[in-house]
Amino acid sequence: MNSGFIRNLFVWFIIFASLMGAYQILSQNKVNQSDIQYSEFIRRVNTGEVIEVEIKGNQISGEYIGVSGNTTNFKTYGPAGDDLIRLMTEKKVNFNFISTEESGFFAFLINWAPMIILILLMVFFIRQMQAGGRGAMSFGKSRAKMISKEDNTKTFDDVAGVDEAKDEVKEIVEFLKSPKKFTNLGGRIPKGVLLVGSPGTGKTLLAKAIAGEAGVPFFIISGSDFVEMFVGVGASRVRDLFAQAKKNSPCIIFVDELDAVGRHRGAGLGGGHDEREQTLNQLLVEMDGFEGASGIIVMAATNRPDVLDPALLRPGRFDRQVVVPKPDVKGREDILKVHTKNVPLEDNVDLQIVARSTPGFSGADLENLVNESAIKAARESHKKINMNDIEFAKDKVVMGSERKSLVISDHERKVTAYHEAGHALVAKLTPGTDPVHKVTIIPRGMALGLTMQLPIEDKYMLSRDYLLKSINILLAGRAAEEIIFNERTTGAGNDLERATEIARKMVTEWGMSEKVGPIRLAKKEGTVFLGKEMSSSNDHSEATSIEVDNEVREIIVNANSEAVNLLKTNEKHLHDLANLLLEKETVDSKELNELLGIDSSNDLNVPKDTKTENKQKSEDSSWQGINPETTTAFSDIKD
Ligand code: ADP
Ligand code: MG
Ligand code: ZN
Repeated sequence: MNSGFIRNLFVWFIIFASLMGAYQILSQNKVNQSDIQYSEFIRRVNTGEVIEVEIKGNQISGEYIGVSGNTTNFKTYGPAGDDLIRLMTEKKVNFNFISTEESGFFAFLINWAPMIILILLMVFFIRQMQAGGRGAMSFGKSRAKMISKEDNTKTFDDVAGVDEAKDEVKEIVEFLKSPKKFTNLGGRIPKGVLLVGSPGTGKTLLAKAIAGEAGVPFFIISGSDFVEMFVGVGASRVRDLFAQAKKNSPCIIFVDELDAVGRHRGAGLGGGHDEREQTLNQLLVEMDGFEGASGIIVMAATNRPDVLDPALLRPGRFDRQVVVPKPDVKGREDILKVHTKNVPLEDNVDLQIVARSTPGFSGADLENLVNESAIKAARESHKKINMNDIEFAKDKVVMGSERKSLVISDHERKVTAYHEAGHALVAKLTPGTDPVHKVTIIPRGMALGLTMQLPIEDKYMLSRDYLLKSINILLAGRAAEEIIFNERTTGAGNDLERATEIARKMVTEWGMSEKVGPIRLAKKEGTVFLGKEMSSSNDHSEATSIEVDNEVREIIVNANSEAVNLLKTNEKHLHDLANLLLEKETVDSKELNELLGIDSSNDLNVPKDTKTENKQKSEDSSWQGINPETTTAFSDIKD
């Protein structure tokens, strides 16, 4: 917003208003006019007291001599008809008519004031629409930000944990460094490189690092910057952007969030979107229009490659796709190293452990984690960040801030303690599940309590057995409540929702039910608003639906009875753990082992040969498994 302009407008308004006021005062030629009634005026004319009268419209002003002998200025309103004129002529009053039209500069201003204000407002709104506009008529100019090679400090060293992606783009750096060398040998360099990955994985960072490594200028624009309310503006921005880039080649053009312009043409609700289509067409035209030798590389980033217009992905356009995945354990450790480079760490900080305990974190999440840890350390006046600061920050990032002020009744607290104890015990007592990292009944975010499990390694594939056990754990909170209090609370709602979701996916997506068989019954979800896949109706019969429902129910019911049985046979442990929770609020894995009399080195949950397990990645790139995050933390939402 243009606050300077608003201030100017305000100043002008004040000046204008004071001028008006001054005029009003000056234009009252007679200063001490007293208002009198029309009847009094007529009476005074009749008695001959009135000497002079000025008539302007129906305003009558003048002078009369009162009984005391001094003259008084008066003013009144009324008709100045023939009768009055006759009377005044008869009484020898000097009278005069004045034109009602104002004249002079101020009159002009007064007449035109509404118009002037309107014009000012219009100018103001146009400025607003240009949003930080660079002077009038810059609509069609590209809004790309150019980062010159001097300003770009990013290099490949700043990007960690995505080594494959880095390898893939290295040749682009070579090309940008010396385009001639490449083309002389007849090498064909991709014009467009599409970076694909979830938010925060470092796509923008990687693109900047490429420019930084190659030492070329970097034009960055977001897809949404092209799209304006006026048709044709986006297209002319694209033209301008490419023209600028040609002047600065070799260089990189980076279109962030390409899906904002690059969505399927003619898709989405309400048919096409002219402006967006024109912009997209212009982008395609420009990409076809320049030769690889011109030294321009167009890069783009998206997290929705599936909604992109296929024309964008044809050869000669974004024909090279580089996947920027979420980092694995090793990658997370490397990213943490990058971001803690200039941060003082206590000796007890082991970044490998931090990396292990942050499955599903993106690079941006990890950066945030380091930042939060530093804030916590500063608040505690630590000289260096220690492990507790990081643990605190992690909980905050994962689960939201602690809500110690939330008022919970003693009974609710007790129910929560048993509920969490139920989750934790079943997790602990079932071999082959993820180790319990911590159990807490401190309310956080939306949750009343939380049991957190941490996988030893990232999981890319989940077995049927593992999923069934996860469902057992999810149902154990409710089971504990039922065993101890013989009541059901809403606290288990979220657990049930997630258990049911897993069970349904097992049946309909992963072919894990004997009765239904290895068949996919669920359609891939697509959002109507994002174009493509307008409908997602079922393509299977009513009978199959019923069978699916039965299978899902059976999985859940079995899991529930398993959880109940396990907890009943270990009821003493359940009481012990719940009491410990009520006392300490948070119980970590060591205390949990002590309580259960488990030797940490002989932990059921930790297989001896962790190194050989789970190392293999899923081949199927479209695999949409359960996010490890969601299977490891069982938060319990108070409804
Ligand atoms: P994206 O564009 O994929 O959404 P960004 O590149 O904007 O993600 O990442 C945001 C921030 O997160 C970066 O500025 C960087 O500090 C951090 N970050 C993300 N990924 C990485 C990574 N692989 N290595 C180091 N830092 C990263
Ligand atoms: Mg980005
Ligand atoms: Zn629960």
